Amino acid sequence: MSKKHKVLVVGGGFGGVKAAQELSKDYTLEVTLLSDDSELRYYPTLFHTATGGSRANSSIPFTTIFEGYNLTIKKGLATSLDRHNKTITTKDDQVFKYDTLILALGVVTNYFNIDGMKEYSYSIKSQREASELKRHIHKQLSQTHRPDPNYIVIGAGPTGIELAGTLPEYIGHVMKRHGLQPRKVHVDLVEAAPRLMPSSTPQVSRILTRRMKRLGVKIYCNSTVTGIDANNLKIEGKPIRSHTVIWTAGVTNNPFFKNNNFVISQHGKVAVNVYLQAEDNIYVLGDNANTPYSGLAQTALLDGKFVADNLKRHLRNKTMKSYKAMLPVSIVPAGKHWAIVIWGGIVMSGWLGWLLREAADFVGFRDLESWPKASKQFLSEFTQDNECVACNRAIENPLYW
Ligand SMILES: Cc1cc2nc3c(=O)[nH]c(=O)nc-3n(C[C@H](O)[C@H](O)[C@H](O)COP(=O)(O)OP(=O)(O)OC[C@H]3O[C@@H](n4cnc5c(N)ncnc54)[C@H](O)[C@@H]3O)c2cc1C
Repeated sequence: MSKKHKVLVVGGGFGGVKAAQELSKDYTLEVTLLSDDSELRYYPTLFHTATGGSRANSSIPFTTIFEGYNLTIKKGLATSLDRHNKTITTKDDQVFKYDTLILALGVVTNYFNIDGMKEYSYSIKSQREASELKRHIHKQLSQTHRPDPNYIVIGAGPTGIELAGTLPEYIGHVMKRHGLQPRKVHVDLVEAAPRLMPSSTPQVSRILTRRMKRLGVKIYCNSTVTGIDANNLKIEGKPIRSHTVIWTAGVTNNPFFKNNNFVISQHGKVAVNVYLQAEDNIYVLGDNANTPYSGLAQTALLDGKFVADNLKRHLRNKTMKSYKAMLPVSIVPAGKHWAIVIWGGIVMSGWLGWLLREAADFVGFRDLESWPKASKQFLSEFTQDNECVACNRAIENPLYW
C-alpha cells in the first residue's frame, strides 16, 4: 500500500478549518489539524458575547465542526519550523511531520508599546477576554452601585464600532438588573485617525458618526492615546477618568512567521505567490497572507477552500489555478437592529443592513457546519450566559419584566 501524503494544517480558525474540512474529504490524504485551541473562535459575534450574549454564539468546538470528518486533531502551539526535515515543533515539544504544510495562524493584538495598555485595558479577541470584560462591568456596578464615569473604546474600526454601539444599551440593562437608578452612561470612542472607520470612504464615516451620536456615544477623532494607568486613560497626555478601557485598535501578524524567517511583505504579511505558497510545500492563508482582502473571515474561508482544491489538483498532476481575490461585503452592526453594509462603492444602512448581517452570520455558520448545527448556532444569539448572581436573580423575578 502506498504511503498517504501528509498534510499538516496549523491554526484552527476560519482558513485552517475550511482547508482541513475540504482536504479531509480526500481519503488519499492524511490530514492533521494542529491548533492551540479546541474550538473555532467565531470573531464576528464576539462583541455580542462580550455584551451579554452567550459564549456558544461565538465559539464552535472542533468536535462539532469535524464530526464524521476523516482527520486527526491535535492541540499545541506551533513554535518552530524545520524546513529540511519537514517538521513543526510545538511549545510543549510535540513534533509533527508533513509533506505539505498549510499555515493559518491569524493575527495577534498589537498595543504599540503604549505605556500600561497591555496591563490595564480590556480586549475582545478571545472568549477569555470577552468574559473578563463582562465580569468586570458587573463587578464594578455591584461594588460601586454606579456606572464608570467613562467606558472607553479605543479604535474606530469595525470591532470598535460594534462594541461602542452595543455598550450603552448593555450597561443600561445591567444597571436595571442590579436594581440601580437609571443614569446616562458615558461611552467614548477614541480614534487616532481624523474619522471613524478610516479604511472606508468618508460617506461611511459620516453615516457612522451620525449613528454613534444618536446612540449617545461621544467621539474623539484625531486623538492619540499615550498611556493608561489603573484610573485614567491619557490622550496626548491629558487624563480621562475610567476603569473600563477596551482596546480594539491594533493587530499585527503572528510572530511565528518572523521567528521562522518567512519573507514578510511591506504590509507586514507573508509574501505568497499566485497559489498562496510562501515556499515549496508551504501554503500561507487568511490573515497571514499578503492578499488584497486579507483580514476578513470571508477571505480566510475563500483561501482555505482555494488552497485545498488546488493542492488536490496538484497531487493529481493537474494544472493549479491562480488565486483570484474576491471583493468582500462588509457589514458592521452598531446598536440594536442597525448595521451598515459596504460592498465596493455601494453603501446601505439601517434595519435592512441588520437583517443582511443576520443572514451573513447564518451563511458563515453554514460554511462550517451542517444545516441543523448552523441553525442551532445561529439561534444561540438569542440566549445569554450570566455568571452574575444579581442579574440571574433579576431575570428569574417575574416583576423584573
Ligand atoms: C473581534 C473581531 C471581530 C471581527 N469581525 C469580523 C467580521 O464581522 N467579518 C469579517 O469578515 N471578519 C471579522 N474579523 C476578522 C476575521 O475574524 C479574521 O479575518 C479571520 O478570523 C481570519 O481567519 P484566519 O484563519 O486567518 O485566522 P484566525 O481565525 O484568527 O485563526 C487562527 C487560529 O490559529 C490559532 N493559532 C495561532 N497561533 C498558533 C500557533 N502558533 N500554533 C497553533 N495554533 C495557532 C489561533 O488560536 C486560531 O485558532 C474580526 C476579527 C476580530 C478580532
